[in-house]
Amino acid sequence: MGRLLTLLCLMLLGFPLQAQWLTRNAEAMGTSVRIELWQPDAATGERLIDSALAELQRVGREFHPWREGSQLAELNRAAAGGWQPVSAELFGLLQRADQFSALSGGAFDITFASVGRLHDYRRGVKPDAASRAQARALIDYRQVALDGAQQRVRYRREGVVVDLGGIAKGHAVERAATLLRRAGVEHAQITAGGDTRFIGDRRGRPWGVGVQHPRQPGEALALLPMIDEAISTSGDYERYFVDGGVRYHHIIDPARGESADQLQSASVLGSDSLTTDALSTTVFVLGIEAGLALINRLPNTECVLVDTRGRLHYSNGLLRR
Ligand code: ADP
Ligand code: MG
Repeated sequence: MGRLLTLLCLMLLGFPLQAQWLTRNAEAMGTSVRIELWQPDAATGERLIDSALAELQRVGREFHPWREGSQLAELNRAAAGGWQPVSAELFGLLQRADQFSALSGGAFDITFASVGRLHDYRRGVKPDAASRAQARALIDYRQVALDGAQQRVRYRREGVVVDLGGIAKGHAVERAATLLRRAGVEHAQITAGGDTRFIGDRRGRPWGVGVQHPRQPGEALALLPMIDEAISTSGDYERYFVDGGVRYHHIIDPARGESADQLQSASVLGSDSLTTDALSTTVFVLGIEAGLALINRLPNTECVLVDTRGRLHYSNGLLRR
């Protein structure tokens, strides 16, 4: 416990800066980003941070669901009209998304966007019941047809729209981590919003991550030591508004077309950020029982869930750790 508290203090104070630990805070993909790495040569380190950040920004640009100049926006405009050739990267992301949908019985579904896009969580905007029901009927990942042989995509139904918000940030973080590792970086962390990837350890000790208290900003509920792995958290406290006692937030339960209401937060640990990002969103929708059951049957994957009463639930592997 003493060791965990030390980790928390180090995290909160920011590890006492030695010359070779380089840190950058920035904005990318609509969220705050933090990159920290160990490099003997500071100029090289700063350049590496620049390229990692540029990679996050590139992924954000290319896979934005609506914005001009995005591959995904282009697909959303055209794919109900017929087959569209796409890049290997976009095809790969759509395939991974499809796998998480199949794995979760549709709890993870990138076509949630027909409902999701009718909201503006910052401004407190939501659809009326009739529009919600109509949009909800368009959520079905099986309407996204993937032709692997020709690397092309078609939406089987007019009105279907895809948003990769549940997976793109994890993909971007994983790409940035790969870039750093290939450049020889042995100790680093990359965080974008709720997704963090660690490379190696913190030079002789584990990295420390606090699971945020969903209702008390800045307070940690649990502390996890981590080495060379990824953690993603999905919560109902980042983007939301409350109306008539109902909490409207950005994770949609595809079955109901409403914000998922089983948990306050879901944190998933695993070997890469793309997987943990998709699974944190998935488990957030599934809730305690189905969420734990899914994580407990996946190898090298763990989770910490906070239920609606603020109680913690751990996957089997974490209970043993
Ligand atoms: P954040 O992007 O804030 O880190 P999450 O990783 O939990 O949070 O992902 C939430 C995002 O996932 C939403 O903003 C939305 O883009 C997308 N999303 C919402 N509901 C679903 C769902 N049922 N399946 C797949 N993606 C979803
Ligand atoms: Mg996620």
